[in-house]
Amino acid sequence: MDIKIIGAGLGGLAASCLLAHKGHDVTILEKNSSPGGKINEISIDGYRFDTGPSLLTMPFILEKLFEYCDTKISDYLDIQSVDPICRYFYPNGIQFDCYQDTCLNTAQIQEFAPNDVQAYKQFISYAEQLFERTKDAFLYNPLYGLSDLGNLDFTDFFKIDAFQTVSGRIDKQFESKELQQFFKRFTTYNGSSPYRAPATLNVIPYVELSLGGYYLDGGMYSLIKALTSLAESKGVNIQYDTEIKQINTVDDTIKGVTDGDGNIHSADIVVSNSDASETYLSLVNKEDISLLKRKKVANVEPSCSGFVLMLGVEKSYNALTHHNIFFSEDYKQEFKQIFEDKVMPEDPTIYIANTSHTNPQDAPEDSSNLFILVNAPYLSDNIDWEKEEKRYKKQIIRKLQEHGLTDLSDHIKYSNTITPKDFYQKYRSNKGSIYGTSSNSKLAAFMRPKNKSRSVKGLYLVGGSTHPGGGIPLVTLSAFHAVELINRFEE
Ligand SMILES: Cc1cc2nc3c(=O)[nH]c(=O)nc-3n(C[C@H](O)[C@H](O)[C@H](O)COP(=O)(O)OP(=O)(O)OC[C@H]3O[C@@H](n4cnc5c(N)ncnc54)[C@H](O)[C@@H]3O)c2cc1C
Repeated sequence: MDIKIIGAGLGGLAASCLLAHKGHDVTILEKNSSPGGKINEISIDGYRFDTGPSLLTMPFILEKLFEYCDTKISDYLDIQSVDPICRYFYPNGIQFDCYQDTCLNTAQIQEFAPNDVQAYKQFISYAEQLFERTKDAFLYNPLYGLSDLGNLDFTDFFKIDAFQTVSGRIDKQFESKELQQFFKRFTTYNGSSPYRAPATLNVIPYVELSLGGYYLDGGMYSLIKALTSLAESKGVNIQYDTEIKQINTVDDTIKGVTDGDGNIHSADIVVSNSDASETYLSLVNKEDISLLKRKKVANVEPSCSGFVLMLGVEKSYNALTHHNIFFSEDYKQEFKQIFEDKVMPEDPTIYIANTSHTNPQDAPEDSSNLFILVNAPYLSDNIDWEKEEKRYKKQIIRKLQEHGLTDLSDHIKYSNTITPKDFYQKYRSNKGSIYGTSSNSKLAAFMRPKNKSRSVKGLYLVGGSTHPGGGIPLVTLSAFHAVELINRFEE
């Protein structure tokens, strides 16, 4: 079959490999001049930065992708475990190095929160149970039709802790403010608020703490280089600088797509890696989907966005490891500002990836490549990014200096920012969201756009805005689901 894929983000590339391996004739049409979407990199003056993800979890899902294509991931990528996974700095001076080894963690907790040592162990086992109960239903399942629900144990649905919030559950478990803040942080991995998202998302700490945190030798962009090379080896044609403006149909059935220059690309099947809201609201003809569906898509709450500051610094900071978090004083207020007030938090939690700690070639000698990320609200009229960008950059640098990165501003040799506006303009992500849709409601897992359109025959969707969600492992799963549905409905 002739398959056109809109977008060479992770979802589009993964789907292209799987489909081309099955013998389909696959072309990816990408608006930008390089592949990867939000997974990208900048190299300048000896500094290299990944501009998107810095942490890989569940690498076995990527392994499965390469295996499906009859090849070995180790021929393409060197996956390395990062330990400590992350260093946490609290406003009161406590520092917590989180390792994959529980004993190393509990030894530190014994020092700063002795009453919570047992609670920590219990929480990890509760999170593991959540993972076991949710993985088949919500991750490894396309959740498209009744047949997908057939093998599921419905009693599990009542045991996934969906009736309280992440925060509510954590506050009951831990006495220490430090551990409360630590465990609430994981909800941001899918761009949601711990004060609104269901406690089911407490599954995320299990994924990182027990299944591990990983990094790719050479940087996260190696993943995109590997997938591009795998796709091309399977015959996939990638056409860059080609923005798709319309999905063409006749009688609600796919016929192809039209690009910005008016060229028509015919297709039997279209897989859209463009954000689902963009696909349904801007690319599909209005007549092809019902008003109800359009309203439903328009009402899906995007995940949060991010404010990224990349600093090439002629100094190295011994306090920093590979992944670092500087927590805010008042977490609840921070999330209120991001998700309710939709303004930048006055006192943000700051994440820093300092990959030159692991990959010295990412920065010149005695220098650091600091990738700094702060959660930001998705785009609204509340922030004018033309004005806010400079002000906020100064605020972050000032705060990091107060937290021990002394003289930071005097040693900056390169700096660049990415704002929520850029995430929309560059990648067409819904309101600049970085993880697709939020999980800020109990039903979010069921509300996410499916990997096959029910309105347009032959239209499939992949990527972080679709089922099962954002982040590298889930986006890769979205490609598997789309391909499974193509096999089911088209062959
Ligand atoms: C700052 C940041 C940090 C992150 N950290 C992590 C992390 O540590 N770990 C993790 O697992 N995940 C992380 N993520 C999330 C992860 O990067 C995303 O979930 C994932 O990369 C999204 O992939 P996608 O397939 O949805 O495609 P996208 O990256 O959204 O790419 C879509 C592609 O489609 C193209 N496109 C869109 N519309 C059109 C059109 N009309 N015509 C042609 N082309 C089009 C775009 O140009 C783009 O190339 C992070 C993301 C960001 C931004």
